[in-house]
Amino acid sequence: MAPDAASRYRSTRGGGEVCDFAQALLNPRPPDGGLYVPEGLPHFGPDELEELHRLSYLQLAERIIAPFIGDALAAGELAGVLARAYRGFEHEEVVRLRALDGGTLHGGPLHLLELFHGPTLAFKDVALQLLGTLLDDILSRQGQRRLILTATSGDTGSAAIEACRNCARLDIAVLFPHERITEFQRRQMTSVQQDNVLCLAVRGDFDDCQNLLKAALGRGEALTGAALMTVNSINWARLMAQVVYYFYAGLRLDQGGGVNFAVPTGNFGNIYAGVLAGRMGLPVRRLLLATNRNDILHRALVGNDYSRVQVQGSVAPSMDISIASNFERLVHFLTDAQTTARLQAEFAESGVLALPDAAWQCARELFASSRWDDDGILQAMQQGQQRYGVVLDPHTAAALAAAQQYGDEHPTAVLATAHPAKFSEALVRAGLGEFTAEADTRLATLRERGERFEVIDPDLDSLQKALGGSSLGGLG
Ligand SMILES: *Cc1c(COP(=O)(O)O)cnc(C)c1O
Repeated sequence: MAPDAASRYRSTRGGGEVCDFAQALLNPRPPDGGLYVPEGLPHFGPDELEELHRLSYLQLAERIIAPFIGDALAAGELAGVLARAYRGFEHEEVVRLRALDGGTLHGGPLHLLELFHGPTLAFKDVALQLLGTLLDDILSRQGQRRLILTATSGDTGSAAIEACRNCARLDIAVLFPHERITEFQRRQMTSVQQDNVLCLAVRGDFDDCQNLLKAALGRGEALTGAALMTVNSINWARLMAQVVYYFYAGLRLDQGGGVNFAVPTGNFGNIYAGVLAGRMGLPVRRLLLATNRNDILHRALVGNDYSRVQVQGSVAPSMDISIASNFERLVHFLTDAQTTARLQAEFAESGVLALPDAAWQCARELFASSRWDDDGILQAMQQGQQRYGVVLDPHTAAALAAAQQYGDEHPTAVLATAHPAKFSEALVRAGLGEFTAEADTRLATLRERGERFEVIDPDLDSLQKALGGSSLGGLG
């Protein structure tokens, strides 16, 4: 690999120019409709892994991420960016790795990798806090600003707000469906009082919010006078940030035979970072992919049937998707740009994608997949409590179920993606109602802070007016 190949980005579909990290960060969608991937990945050999093993989380993050950033930051600046990004986390080590009581599963130790110690109690903070800090830093060098526009069905909006609120070069406006998210979800967003944050309750459902977002992004700067962008899960910087915790846990757990990772999956972002970690030299054995009833990825892996169906509500709502927006990166990883372009064009046309046979066989080696309906998830929540004494959120419970089903004699890390206090309704449904006290306390704290949001109609005029009348930088 050429020394700087990891910091040169190209579309998965092969079109357009090569670009650098800053360009891929600011314009995450290449002109041909694909997704950016680096031309090459850094690789860490046995001696280097030994050295990485001894590093703190932040030092490790610097080593893993530096090759992807290239010269978008001045030498030595990355360490400061990482320290700022993660200073709001509960633990200095950002994530927490702990053995589950009893510690063994078919002889192999079972561990929980807790990724939810950031400001909104969900794993998305790990990637979004770094994304916000990087954006702020790079925009400041370029003397620019961005208005982040995003739509949420409840859970991800607060992670985006927390990522932007302290950034001088960013404003953020979040669209959410009025009266269709929980009070906790709403207050997590609307209790933030900074001038660069605007919460908009849209009279309509989540689809109306997404359509409005799409229409607004299509109009771009003409709509608001500000350069717009979104921070959805396709931004390469988010995936790069997630590779770090695979190394962190994998290096600590490996006993020479490699480590399995069980991952609750929706848009295929988190688990794709595990694919990258394996390719970068981490001894990854199997990636145990767990879906809820929205099982497009499970169908793709067991039957080579990646076909779009209607999304269904589930007890693990952050995995409720009809298509997995990062799956295209796996297609590219297993094939090439030309094949990816052809398969994605076919998928856009027919809603069906089948991998070439050899690529599908490779995918079956990388992953063991499983699908869990609401009952299976609630049951796994109960088992977590009964067998290991841990209270899990429904997403993590799906991954625990996958680990229990697969379990071999090697260590397995179950990726814990949300704090259970965020999903108290599921706790009650699983018969774990006695563990909702923390959720109640957190809600009471939020209630003390008051709220700030505006209700708008689901059309561009209303959005434009709300943005124009707001305190967002340079708009009001
Ligand atoms: C977003 C999310 C997931 C799914 O992650 P992907 O990267 O979309 O696969 C799982 N659990 C929780 C709690 C989430 O918020």
